[in-house]
Amino acid sequence: MEKREELYAGKAKSVYYTDEADKLILLFRNDTSAFDGQKVDQLDRKGMINNRFNAFIMGLLEKEGVPTQHIKVLSDQESLVKKLDMIPVECVVRNIAAGSLCRRLGVEEGLDLIPPTFELFLKNDELHDPMINESHIRSFAWAEDAEIDEMKRLTFKVNEVLKALFLDAGLLLVDFKLEFGRFDGEIVLGDEFSPDGCRLWDSETRKKMDKDRFRQGLGGVVEAYEEVAHRLGVKLN
Ligand code: ADP
Ligand code: UDP
Repeated sequence: MEKREELYAGKAKSVYYTDEADKLILLFRNDTSAFDGQKVDQLDRKGMINNRFNAFIMGLLEKEGVPTQHIKVLSDQESLVKKLDMIPVECVVRNIAAGSLCRRLGVEEGLDLIPPTFELFLKNDELHDPMINESHIRSFAWAEDAEIDEMKRLTFKVNEVLKALFLDAGLLLVDFKLEFGRFDGEIVLGDEFSPDGCRLWDSETRKKMDKDRFRQGLGGVVEAYEEVAHRLGVKLN
């Protein structure tokens, strides 16, 4: 597998073409950002941890029947993935109130959400990822009805699988964001699943073990990610 020119450099990952038209290399960098890129830092080991963590989660989801982009880990910070035609929408499921939900609806952080909520956001940094609904997706033709249904179905399926996985490791899956794309006519899970894109709290102490440690300046960001990986049995270097 040959790494070719860069296709895109995002805030935390870079994406490269390969010698195979339908495959890309994702490079998980140590860069970390919050508040639409207004707060940035470099966190040693974060790229390696997220790459290996993501591979573990994607492998498990694939086994549970969720089609994913993941092909294989290539190095500490790189993975080979299917090149998806990305749908510019973020799918968010919440089991417990936190983050923007609390700001938007004035509810207290920590409120149990039964049943879990499902929200859609447009992936657009300049517009600060505005919240959208299914009607916007249809009117602007970002995805078809059947694709929206499938993204929603798969997001809830991921919630069921991962809520149980994390609970077994003494962690509450508070919320998470997924991105999907098209591959061979199928809706496939893309981007990543790591503590950068979800909230995880220790189930006993409710200590934050995710990117909120960076957003809120709590310190120990990489240590928390490492602890999560360790509890799940993800092998790190
Ligand atoms: P951002 O774009 O939010 O700054 P990243 O730094 O994570 O995010 O950049 C990764 C980019 O690669 C995102 O735009 C994401 O939508 C895109 N991407 C992720 N997985 C795939 C894939 N399998 N195929 C094509 N593009 C992908
Ligand atoms: N999230 C993400 N990328 C985004 C926006 C949100 O990964 O661009 C994740 C975030 O880490 C959290 C969930 O989606 O796990 C819900 O985020 P929220 O809407 O509360 O926004 P926040 O206040 O975290 O920006």
